[in-house]
Amino acid sequence: MFVGIDIGGSKIKGILTDSSGKELSFREITTPGTPNEIDDGIYQLVESLATSASVSKIDIMGVGIGSPGPIDREKGLLLTAPNIPSVSNHPIVKNMEALTGTKVFLENDATVALIGAWWKENVSKYRNWIMITLGTGIGGGVIIDNKVYTGQSGNAMEVGHMTIDFNGRECPCGNRGCWERYASGPAMVELAQSLLKKNRTSSIAERIKKEPLTPLMVFEEAQNRDDTALAIFNEYAVYVGIGISNLVNIFNPEAIILGGGLSRAHKYIIPGARQVVNERSLKGFKGNLQIIPVQDPSKVPSFGAAKIAINSIPQ
Ligand SMILES: [Zn+2]
Repeated sequence: MFVGIDIGGSKIKGILTDSSGKELSFREITTPGTPNEIDDGIYQLVESLATSASVSKIDIMGVGIGSPGPIDREKGLLLTAPNIPSVSNHPIVKNMEALTGTKVFLENDATVALIGAWWKENVSKYRNWIMITLGTGIGGGVIIDNKVYTGQSGNAMEVGHMTIDFNGRECPCGNRGCWERYASGPAMVELAQSLLKKNRTSSIAERIKKEPLTPLMVFEEAQNRDDTALAIFNEYAVYVGIGISNLVNIFNPEAIILGGGLSRAHKYIIPGARQVVNERSLKGFKGNLQIIPVQDPSKVPSFGAAKIAINSIPQ
């Protein structure tokens, strides 16, 4: 059995699978604020995955971890994590191997999402495709001619930090105008706040008196046909489309696969994004291009992390 861990800016998710990819258990916790608490949280997650599937921890042969980059895969370090500020050169692999007594493998979070989609989603008909995860940040991964492209140190495709406005909003990474400052979950919340100032009768305005504004709330109110929620998605979809257009012009892919929590709202995002891609992509690049969501965005990266452990351990 194998465990896949997906460290996100707001949640850490874990899945226990057998080597064929059958899900035995799935759990999630809120992402703690310090590196040591992250180690402890993952360890407890591994224990509860084993307990809830009634298996012994001894039967876990490997743990794969996907983390927000940049990472040093060879040394097993989290170098920094833009959405978890206290992380700096954190030896997560060494620490987790000591805690769990099993082999631990580290990968970039977007690469695990890519591997998860490759394993569990119906993408085998494509040889050149890009995965984009829309969440607390924006991650990316690319399959080129049926191979994962990871770059020289495993950090390729940090698409969330591609500049889409060179004088634009400041980003925690230190640059300005990064894509994820316009098309991540927190960016959608900012967009919603600014549109709500002009639309005070929105059902969102009522709900935020009692609960925090989240992308999920905007999605729910879009489902209820709230005009402001639909307007938020229309504008948000344009930002998503601008980033995708840049990637299409560089990679000329067959498909863009959308994952991450926000991809659940794909029916409000893909049509608008597609229109922008049609307007901005070079002639000949957009003809056969598919833009499609993953089936289960919450589990795809954890599955991918487990698959990395499976592939790394001879059986
Ligand atoms: Zn940035």
